[in-house]
Amino acid sequence: MTENETRFCPYCGVKLQRPYWAHIQKEHPEKYTQKETWVKLFEDYTKLGMDEDISLTVISELFNATKEEIKSFLKSRKVL
Ligand SMILES: [Zn+2]
Repeated sequence: MTENETRFCPYCGVKLQRPYWAHIQKEHPEKYTQKETWVKLFEDYTKLGMDEDISLTVISELFNATKEEIKSFLKSRKVL
């Protein structure tokens, strides 16, 4: 996956339109509000061979958060 590739929802698989977070917020509010879900997603993406930086970008777009915010949370969970 690259930065400009089509995005699919990691929870229900639908093709996402920008802004990607709007779908997660509406359809998966329990995920959207839980920062813990970032850990699982980051692990899944990097296990699939996705670059760490691109993984952070994708998660930031899905959760309307900054990459810095995600990075510091992952660091606090010892994932990064
Ligand atoms: Zn979905």
